[in-house]
Amino acid sequence: MAERSFAKEVEALKLGDGDIFRGEGILAVTKALLQSGVAYVGGYQGAPVSHLLDVLVDAEDMMAELGVHLETCTNEASAAAMLGASINYPLRGAVTWKSIVGTNVAADALSNLSSPGVIGGAMIILGEDYGEGASVIQERSYAYAMKSSMWLLDPRPDLPTIVRMVEKGFELSEASHAPVMLELRVRACHVTGEFIAKTNRASAKSGLNRIDGPPVFNYARLAHPPLTFVQEKLKIDERLPAAQAFAREHKLNEFLDGDLKQLGIIALGGLTNTLLRALCRLGLADDFGNARIPIYCLNLAYPLIPDELNTFCVGKTDVLIVEEGFPDYVEQSVNTELRRADIQTRIHGKGALPKAGEYTSEVVLRGLANFLAAAKPNGIDTAEISAKADRLLGHKNAAIAAVGELPPRPPNFCTGCPERPVFAALKLTQRELGPTHISADIGCHSFATFAPFSMGNSILGYGMSLASAAAVAPNMSRRPISVMGDGGFWHNGLITGVASNLFNKNDGVLIVMQNGYTSATGQQYMPSSLTSRQGSAPGMDVEQTLRSFGVKWMRKVRTYGVATMVKTLKEAMLTPVSGLKVIIADGECQLARQRRVRAEDSAKLKAGARVVRTKFGVDDEICTGDHSCIRLSGCPSLTVKPSPDPLRTDPVASVIESCVGCGLCGEVAHAAVLCPSFYRAELIQNASAWDRLLHRVRRTVIGWLSPREVTA
Ligand code: SF4
Ligand code: SF4
Repeated sequence: MAERSFAKEVEALKLGDGDIFRGEGILAVTKALLQSGVAYVGGYQGAPVSHLLDVLVDAEDMMAELGVHLETCTNEASAAAMLGASINYPLRGAVTWKSIVGTNVAADALSNLSSPGVIGGAMIILGEDYGEGASVIQERSYAYAMKSSMWLLDPRPDLPTIVRMVEKGFELSEASHAPVMLELRVRACHVTGEFIAKTNRASAKSGLNRIDGPPVFNYARLAHPPLTFVQEKLKIDERLPAAQAFAREHKLNEFLDGDLKQLGIIALGGLTNTLLRALCRLGLADDFGNARIPIYCLNLAYPLIPDELNTFCVGKTDVLIVEEGFPDYVEQSVNTELRRADIQTRIHGKGALPKAGEYTSEVVLRGLANFLAAAKPNGIDTAEISAKADRLLGHKNAAIAAVGELPPRPPNFCTGCPERPVFAALKLTQRELGPTHISADIGCHSFATFAPFSMGNSILGYGMSLASAAAVAPNMSRRPISVMGDGGFWHNGLITGVASNLFNKNDGVLIVMQNGYTSATGQQYMPSSLTSRQGSAPGMDVEQTLRSFGVKWMRKVRTYGVATMVKTLKEAMLTPVSGLKVIIADGECQLARQRRVRAEDSAKLKAGARVVRTKFGVDDEICTGDHSCIRLSGCPSLTVKPSPDPLRTDPVASVIESCVGCGLCGEVAHAAVLCPSFYRAELIQNASAWDRLLHRVRRTVIGWLSPREVTA
């Protein structure tokens, strides 16, 4: 699936009974799946869980030995639907994707899975990309768990706990006949540690030992009326109590004791490390996680287990809920359960802690100080705790006062990205034709929403750009332009956008960025990649597919050809031809290309073969310092430096060492009729005799043409 190698990680997956596994949380999950005897695994890549599938792709031989079927799905809906194998058969399976976006895409299949329920353990591993670093909307997977009656594990970020939750998660799913979600925040995925491994288990039934025939027809296995009403009752009357009983018996949640028994903290498992660190900084826990305030750690975030909760709260005056995100589902449920049990513990949560936003260690530290100030427990100097929090958090303001606010540093296209030139061309086109509505999408191209392009009027989801322009086009004087990656095209855009557009005979312009990979998630292969995890090309092609759907106006343009791209865009915008106009912007992902080229170059160098690298540069003497090239390109390798000419104060443009020689600088300078200050240079290693001769001739001619220094 990916072009990178995970050979080291694959070795870790082979560890047997008693071996020590060392590595990241997400790799521990992968190992735990194999230890649990899964028969099938699938998913759609996305941060922070891409690693899980990427590693399994590289471990295909080992998977084949275990009889595990691996599916690299085209979207999350197809991954969720795979879990249908566990409805009728005693097959354990796991799928993975990034939440909340992926869960939104998978929602239909998840509803239809959780209604009839499962026989084999079914697990959904969610990358809970919540917080400042998230690229997606801030919503909670918790809502899906509640609405569909799926159980939600949120393990403490500690490898033995994570592995135990995967293994117990399958048992929980089978004991309660419900799918189980396991959410991993960014920190849980990347936490490092160790655990004692077990030998991988083959499923009793799998590709190695196939099931004889389908089961006897059972209408109750279908999410179809009128059985759905029965299934709804089963969820509430049987599966929920079964899940609670299993969780209680197997101690999925943890009680961490402390001497300040008047107080308590209920924390979602995934936030426990952050909480313990904040307690430690306030002097209320040691470095090994032994806290003075008792903690009820919810490794099972949903459902709550009322009797465990009540036991924890009885006798406590004040309890803090540490629950990231909004709405405050856990806090509401805790309040309800305590009222039902007539327990009068005061509950603090949102209020002491912020209602929204990521619960970083700073946020939790302040929240703890607020909680203690409100609870006023015996045995703690709460004024001193607040003062300590002020001291610990004060350094940030002091730093700002000292150096001033740092400018934001938005993400950007990689150096030499093939998608950047398309937006440079779009910028030039709009200069001539006037601004138009840009319907943006998810993918690397969404970096164009940042400076220097600042393009994109809406983003409605992955592969949704064309669909989201459907009602814009008929209401605008100029054609809207929809931008979609080839990843988005196969994920959703072909049916949701293209088919719908053609079906409705809509007008509009679609740019498909064909870079050959789902690049933003780590260069995984997809249906139109030139190769695949099996080695051969998958055989699907964006252009042919569009033609077969009936697209008549289509142009394929090399992305770096800025002038051609401008001409094509103008043609698409102005042609009297009605209907969908598609421009396939063709250019391989530069990051993937560099990975490949560097490896090839290094092999050539070792063999003493000739290697040529292209670089661009700016002639300091010609650069006028107006920086139009930078505003039209935004390449991180194109920057400024002081002018060497003492008579000119403006800094001049400069190309730094990281330039990959994509040529955009020169193309932009040409297409936008800028100054002729860019030059192209070739760095030749292991130069041939011809190269050397040519070099000598050039130097001689340049020498003749150069002005001679006048000596006194
Ligand atoms: S990963 Fe590839 S497509 Fe994405 S910004 Fe980098 S070079 Fe461009
Ligand atoms: S040629 Fe220009 S745009 Fe391309 S990588 Fe080098 S500096 Fe960046």
